[in-house]
Amino acid sequence: MGLDVDAYTHAEDAWSAFPEGDYDLVLTDILLEGVMSGITLVRKIRRMQGEIGNVPIMAISGFGNKSRKIELFHLGVNDFISKPIVREELRQRVINHVTSYQGLRELRAQQKSLHSLSMLDELTQLFNRHALREFAGKYFSESYRFNRPLSMAVVDIDHFKQVNERHGYEKGDSVLTALGAWLKRFVRDIDMVARWSGEEFVFLLANCDQEHAKALMERLLSRLEQFQPSGIELTVSVGIATTNAGDEKEHTLNSLFDLADSAMYQAKMAGRNCVELYTEAEEVEV
Ligand code: GH3
Ligand code: MG
Ligand code: MG
Repeated sequence: MGLDVDAYTHAEDAWSAFPEGDYDLVLTDILLEGVMSGITLVRKIRRMQGEIGNVPIMAISGFGNKSRKIELFHLGVNDFISKPIVREELRQRVINHVTSYQGLRELRAQQKSLHSLSMLDELTQLFNRHALREFAGKYFSESYRFNRPLSMAVVDIDHFKQVNERHGYEKGDSVLTALGAWLKRFVRDIDMVARWSGEEFVFLLANCDQEHAKALMERLLSRLEQFQPSGIELTVSVGIATTNAGDEKEHTLNSLFDLADSAMYQAKMAGRNCVELYTEAEEVEV
């Protein structure tokens, strides 16, 4: 039939080969030579988490009685074939199971890649603004629910236009790619970093107050001096805003962004390559 088949006489051997086998169908007899029965094998496979545990299983048995069949279907066997096996019947059933399972797997893989395409920025492989919106709700609700400060840092590259002008747009692109990978390594697992727009990035720092956010971002600035993404010396300006328990109204991604962005603008005004915190007083000056 043009299929690759691994055959085992003991269920123990089949079971140990199964996780790595990437199989599209399991055919198992009920009575096998070892201690483990085909029924135990089916049970073990069905207990596996994820896609692999859903592999189609066809049972083969000489005891074709009804209650045995029902028990097998209960365990999650998809199909049953009695001995003596009719060649053509087996052939057709195998083809049906394999092709429909392969189709399903292909579909799942496509859905997965479409999903990650819509969430990831193509150039930097960071989350895009759409993904940030998707996840921000959880960050904000947890901040207010557990009374934990959530800090947002807006990071904008200084004089990036000059990088493009001096080295070309393509070089600019590779600087952004290198910087993106570097930023992703910089944050903790619970934090999020996304590309907001061209050369502007946003960090969401969970359970992080203004002082800690400032210290973290200042560390980023000093490490960036050494890093030189794609061989180009680069500085950034950073603005930080933080939720707090006293907020009159709960912040949203956009409202907190506006504050962090205005602090970032202050950092530009203060001569770039620095971190500014948003303060209410600032707002009065503006
Ligand atoms: P500053 O922020 O310090 O005020 O100066 P700047 O030169 O960075 O400011 P501005 O925001 O005016 O310019 C951003 C530049 O970033 C302009 C644009 O050509 C460049 N840029 C935006 N997106 C990309 C991109 O995807 N690739 C490249 N190579 N350049 C980009
Ligand atoms: Mg800029
Ligand atoms: Mg900008």
